[in-house]
Amino acid sequence: MARSPSSILHPPSSKVAVLDIDFHHGNGTQQIFYTRGDVFFASIHADPAREYPYFAGYADERGAGAGLGYNLNLPLEAGVSDERYLAVLEIALEAIATFGAHYLVISAGFDTFGGDPIGDFALSSAAYPAIGRRIAELGLPTLVVQEGGYAVAELGENLAGLLRGMLI
Ligand SMILES: [Zn+2]
Repeated sequence: MARSPSSILHPPSSKVAVLDIDFHHGNGTQQIFYTRGDVFFASIHADPAREYPYFAGYADERGAGAGLGYNLNLPLEAGVSDERYLAVLEIALEAIATFGAHYLVISAGFDTFGGDPIGDFALSSAAYPAIGRRIAELGLPTLVVQEGGYAVAELGENLAGLLRGMLI
């Protein structure tokens, strides 16, 4: 039987999680999905009290209406190490697993790198394969969208590291 256009546009059981690992809060993505309960948004980023976008990305922004509880902000201090970042990543991944996502979208920023001229985290290049491996362990069909990253000399290596980690 042919599927109707409406079943194609709105397939059953299509819960999507967006995980934003860019250094900056994903304020636009948060705003788009803030009142939806079928899209879970998690963002690990610099505390907006000190970094762009300043007006959004605080931990108490948890969604509204049907989306209440489906928005998770994990703002962090300056100088975040690989170990600290991976521990916080676990919190985001556990929340995504609990949500029961069928698909995952990664907003993949690399301005978390220690050598980035804009960010103030301290991740090493070794962090990205580890991040990719943990993301892949969710076992979800995953779309990676490249976002920020301004340490141009290391950007390719860091991106390749994330993707290598996801293939393990
Ligand atoms: Zn950024």
